[in-house]
Amino acid sequence: MHYIIVDLEATCWDRATQTERKPNEIIEIGAVCVNEQKEIIGEFMAFVKPILNPTLSDFCVSLTTITQEQVDNAEYFPLVCSNFQTWIEGFDSAYFLCSWGNYDKGQFRHDCLLHNLPIEWLENHISVKHQYGKIRSKIGLVGMGKALKAEGFELEGTHHRGIDDARNISKIFIKYFEKWKY
Ligand code: AMP
Ligand code: MG
Repeated sequence: MHYIIVDLEATCWDRATQTERKPNEIIEIGAVCVNEQKEIIGEFMAFVKPILNPTLSDFCVSLTTITQEQVDNAEYFPLVCSNFQTWIEGFDSAYFLCSWGNYDKGQFRHDCLLHNLPIEWLENHISVKHQYGKIRSKIGLVGMGKALKAEGFELEGTHHRGIDDARNISKIFIKYFEKWKY
């Protein structure tokens, strides 16, 4: 079994000023692969070119630091998703997707359905956030930043960049490796 710690970034708008709700669409897939020996044995990072709202909002650029040029030069979701799945299968056909909360699974589902792609590959998934909240019940349901702090880990890289978020989540994943329920 291999564990794919994945974090997505998506198009977004400032919720305080947003008048009409627009659908979020993936703009980055960041992931690390952890083996049974608790080692990070690979990383995946790719930007994705969105189709519904191809122009990033200033809010989105500022939140994620992902630029318009980076998404303009990226491939569309079907190719990136296929590359991601090929990368996963290169380790093992038996895997669990692990993310901080259920957002990432839902966003993957949304974008797969948008592009008429299968969703069964998302089935094996755990929310590290919800399980962490039970394991460390005094801390409870918190954002990744708070959890890192509580565990004495540095938030390395840029928060809200998929690859950096995935690397940071993997620290918590590895620390409590024996505790996760699948
Ligand atoms: P995260 O993994 O926390 O970086 O968030 C994933 C995605 O959720 C971001 O790329 C945004 O699309 C959305 N998001 C996160 N935080 C906010 C926020 N404060 N306002 C609007 N959208 C957000
Ligand atoms: Mg993120």
